[in-house]
Parts: sequence; C-alpha cells; structure tokens
Amino acid sequence: MAKRKVAFITGIAGQDGSYLADFLLEKGYKVAGLMRRTSNIRRTNITHLLGKISIEFGDLLDYHTLESAIKKHQPDEVYNLAAQSVPADSWTHPIYTGEVTALGVTRMLEAVRSGKPDAKFYQGSSREVFGGARHQVCNEETPYLANNPYGVAKVYGHLITRTYRESYGMFACGGILFNHESPRRGLHFVTRKITMGVACIKLGIANPPLNEAGEPLVIDGKLLLGNLEAKRDWGYAKEYVEAMWLMLQRKEPEDYVIATNSLNSVKDFCKSAFEQVGLNWKDHVRSHVQFTRPTEITASRGDYSKAKKELGWEPKTGFQDLVKLMVEADLERLSR
Ligand code: NAP
Repeated sequence: MAKRKVAFITGIAGQDGSYLADFLLEKGYKVAGLMRRTSNIRRTNITHLLGKISIEFGDLLDYHTLESAIKKHQPDEVYNLAAQSVPADSWTHPIYTGEVTALGVTRMLEAVRSGKPDAKFYQGSSREVFGGARHQVCNEETPYLANNPYGVAKVYGHLITRTYRESYGMFACGGILFNHESPRRGLHFVTRKITMGVACIKLGIANPPLNEAGEPLVIDGKLLLGNLEAKRDWGYAKEYVEAMWLMLQRKEPEDYVIATNSLNSVKDFCKSAFEQVGLNWKDHVRSHVQFTRPTEITASRGDYSKAKKELGWEPKTGFQDLVKLMVEADLERLSR
C-alpha cells in the first residue's frame, strides 16, 4: 500500500489552514499543524478536525519549536500560513509584524532545511506586496511596492522563499494570493465584520462581538467601518487552498498569482450583504476615520492567467455568491 503523504501546516487554526487541512485529509494526507499554545484549541475553524489532525504547539518566533516539529513529522509538504495577518494591525505592531510575518518565514525555511530538506515548501505571500502599484492589474512580474508594514514583511517572506529556492535548490513556492474570504475569516477583516454586523442587526443581538477597538461591533444598529470606497479583488478561500496544493504538485517550483481578476468596493460588499436580509446598508453603516488605513493600497485586480494555464486553476464562486454564503453562515451561527 502506498505510504500516506504527510503535510505540515503552520496557522492551521486560521481560515486558510483549516480549509487546507480539510482538503488534504480528503486527499488522504496525514495532516499535522502548528498552533500557538496561547490559542484556544477549541477554535471553531478546527473543532471538526480534532482527532483527525496532529497539533504541535509552537510559535514562528521560536525556531526550536519549528525545527523539532519538522524533524518529528518528516513532512512531504510544508505550508507556511501562519502570520500576523492583519494589515491594519501592522501599523500598531510594526516590529512584531516583521518578527512573525517576515523573519518567521526564514525560521520555517531553516527548520525545513535542517529537518527535512527535500520537503516541498509553500509560502503564503500576499497581494499586499504590490501595495501602491501603478498597475490596475497585477501579475507575477509586477514590481513590489508594498506600502504598509504587513506588505513589506510579506515582500521579505516572498523574496527569502525565492532566495532559498535559488540558493539551496529547495522546492519552495510563493503563492501571491489576492484577498479571499469565507465564513471562517477572522472578525478583524472588513468582510467578516460586515456579514457578522448584518447578522447581529437582523437578529437584534444584544451583545455583539467586539471589534478591534474593543467596542461592540454594532452599536445602536450601526456598524462602524473604515474607507467604504476601498476596492479589493475578493475570492472564496475554500477554492484558494486548492491552488496552494497544485503549486506543490508541479515538477518545478514557481510563484503564482491567485485571484478573480474582478474588483468590488467595501460599499458594494455592504450593499450586497444588507440586501440579503432585506435591509438598506445606508441605514446601518458609518465610515469612521478610526478604521481607515494611513496609506491605502492601489485598487488592483489579480491576473491569474499563469495559474490557469499551468495549474488548471480558476475561481468558481462569484462576488454575490461569496457575500451570500458568508451572510447565511453568520445568520445561522448566531441563530444557534
Ligand atoms: P488567519 O486566519 O489570520 O490565520 C493566520 C494564523 O497564523 C492564525 O491561525 C494564527 O494562529 C497564526 N499565527 C499568528 N501569529 C503566529 C505566530 N507568532 N506563531 C505561529 N502562528 C501564528 O489568516 P489566513 O486568512 O488563513 O491567511 C493565511 C496566510 O495567508 C497568512 O500568512 C496571510 O497573511 C496570508 N494571506 C492571506 C490572504 C487572505 O485574504 N486571507 C491573502 C494573502 C495572503 P493562532 O491560531 O495561534 O491565532
């Protein structure tokens, strides 16, 4: 009988890590993943996986825990998805963001180089590497003009991954993913704030979850957001994790842009989400300077034609369907 492949996922309790674990288990992999000891093992994204996956407690700040986990599990594939992943928080925590999101990648690459050098390595790069790009459509050749501490850290992570590939012959790929959302998205991100806000308002929830300012997400039926004109290329996370796996199945390691090549604004997202429950977003959404970024990234779409041609990957879920499934999931979650 063929030996089961082993995958090791950092950030396994996050949005992408949990979808990737679902996907790889379905494919017959043994799955192990890294969580911080301070995180709650009962995190909703992975409660359904407990007993099916191995959890290692560790931190991207702590090389020793990473190296021993890789040595112990001897993975065929390593997916580095852990990061301080909230661009907005990177202004308040710029040094921590650099330590985790930038140098954490080097620690993972070193752990793999020391513990299982022939493992294939996926780095969770981001469209934020393009930051203030002059281009409306970005692809693998677009210059990196990151303009926030998170994006700058992701440029470092992307380039150090490429450097290890070129210097040590490691099979290491960077997936430059544009924004991808789902019911498992953290509440610090605008899409999930909106869908959770819609559900709270629709159901009249008395104690809404807290936002990043430590205040109720919804106060007196109003949801406070940042720049409503900001535009993003939004896809469905569950589909994006398949692209990560496809990159590691190629003969040669390369970097790929994963996106939908379409743009919508935060306002569009609000309009669509409130319409799902028969409400007018204008009655419930306010923009507040407290939640705007000091610098905004360019409204760019991602050109995923290389991934389509070489990986056979393309997005399937459109913007309206994505909003709908997220609103429905939050209504269901709060109704329970
Ligand atoms: P996420 O839900 O925020 O998950 C990130 C995970 O990283 C969390 O589970 C967190 O673990 C873990 N983490 C944070 N700091 C850590 C540390 N010091 N040591 C170990 N683990 C740590 O993010 P995601 O949406 O799944 O994204 C996955 C990756 O893709 C991230 O690297 C992100 O930056 C990148 N990315 C995301 C998008 C997107 O639109 N979603 C786009 C491009 C790139 P705990 O469980 O311990 O809190």
